Amino acid sequence: MNAAKATQEALIDLYARELRLPGLRKAYRELARDAAQSGQDHLAYLAACLTAEVESRRQSRLNRRLGMARFPALKTLESFDFTALPDLPKARVLQLADGSFVKARENVVCLGPTGTGKTHTAIALGVAAIHAGWRVRFTTAVALGQELLQAHNEARLPKALKGWDRFDLVILDELGYLGLGPAGPLLFQFCAHRYERGSLLITTNLEFSRWVEVFGDATLTSALLDRLTHRSHVLLFKGESYRFRESQQRLRKEGVSH
Ligand code: ADP
Ligand code: MG
Repeated sequence: MNAAKATQEALIDLYARELRLPGLRKAYRELARDAAQSGQDHLAYLAACLTAEVESRRQSRLNRRLGMARFPALKTLESFDFTALPDLPKARVLQLADGSFVKARENVVCLGPTGTGKTHTAIALGVAAIHAGWRVRFTTAVALGQELLQAHNEARLPKALKGWDRFDLVILDELGYLGLGPAGPLLFQFCAHRYERGSLLITTNLEFSRWVEVFGDATLTSALLDRLTHRSHVLLFKGESYRFRESQQRLRKEGVSH
């Protein structure tokens, strides 16, 4: 490499750092080689450098937001077997994946027995919403209940509730009547606070008629359900556990082959 070129590269590295252009800094050398080889003009080269920067920013924002969401595992709709749940409206689920329900501040309720893919679907819709540019956070009813209870005991509940406003979509997994106790009414407050501030996706094995067992107060609960279901997509997961079904099928197959 000649001295002039080395100086230029050092300068580009320095300025790219100062201007915080990590994508460009990583890509410009190789793009310059490609441009020289293919006889690309200066404008096309500059465009390619800027594209690399924009792409790298998009990717790191995506990674940041996926981390911020604290999903317990990464699940996608591509890996979801819709044939296992013939009653689940596939087209509606796929439509939710465009994230427009988050824009409209609508809610989603995934209702059905254990093992039918509610959490899987919730995570997949969360991941899709992040791809659509939204801020998402996953939590469970028990974890959030504990967090709110602690905040309540330390007289900072309003602040704790407000802290969740920065998320466009909150996924509240496993709303069930077990293990909530005094946290139940606080979860109620959370859901009420969230109304029209942002979207909520709730997974639960409890029929709506039993939500009063979680939240404690019949009047408040029915008011909340009115609001929730007024602006919500209710997805019913009917069927037996997917894992159970899979293992039964495996056993049947093994039974045949022996
Ligand atoms: P739920 O939340 O309804 O109890 P999960 O979503 O946790 O059920 O599903 C249990 C396991 O089975 C997960 O590992 C999930 O990825 C898988 N699973 C459930 N339903 C399906 C499905 N229809 N297609 C692919 N995997 C599924
Ligand atoms: Mg679940």
